[in-house]
This record gives sequence, structure tokens and C-alpha cells, in this order.
Amino acid sequence: MSWFCETQLRDLPAGCRIMITCEKCGQQRAESVRQLVNEARVGAMYLDLIEWAFSCADFHCGGSVSFGIFTPVKLSHEVPAILLRA
Ligand SMILES: [Zn+2]
Repeated sequence: MSWFCETQLRDLPAGCRIMITCEKCGQQRAESVRQLVNEARVGAMYLDLIEWAFSCADFHCGGSVSFGIFTPVKLSHEVPAILLRA
């Protein structure tokens, strides 16, 4: 299990942003953690499940997405310094 599977969205600092990249067409969009917790109400979901649940913003593409996480603050615990997954 990686930290990605063990981390709930609400565990991330609210100031974090998640860059969502479509693996099919490459389209990117950024969502703030605060917005996802407050509006999409996925705060209790683990990051890998959210990644799985999301798909491309382009309705006609519908590709699966990968997450990259950008944080303006230093995380206190086990999350590695480089947060982008390969
Ligand atoms: Zn796409």
C-alpha cells in the first residue's frame, strides 16, 4: 500500500491543489482540495479511489485520469517530498 491509497482527501491541507490529467487525451484540470471536500463531498474517500472514480472532463473522451498533488505547505508526515506519481 502506498501513501496514496492510505490518504483520505481531507488529510491533505485544504490549500493543496490536485492536477487531474487524462491518460487518454492529456487534458489537464486543477481542483482545489477545499473545493472537492466542500462541494464534491469526497473528503472521506481515499485518493486512489477518487482517482478511479474521476474521468476526463471531456465527455466525449471519458478517459481515465491520474492525479498529481501540489501543496503550498510542507506535509508533516510520511508523504514523500515529491508527490507526483510516476
Ligand atoms: Zn481525455
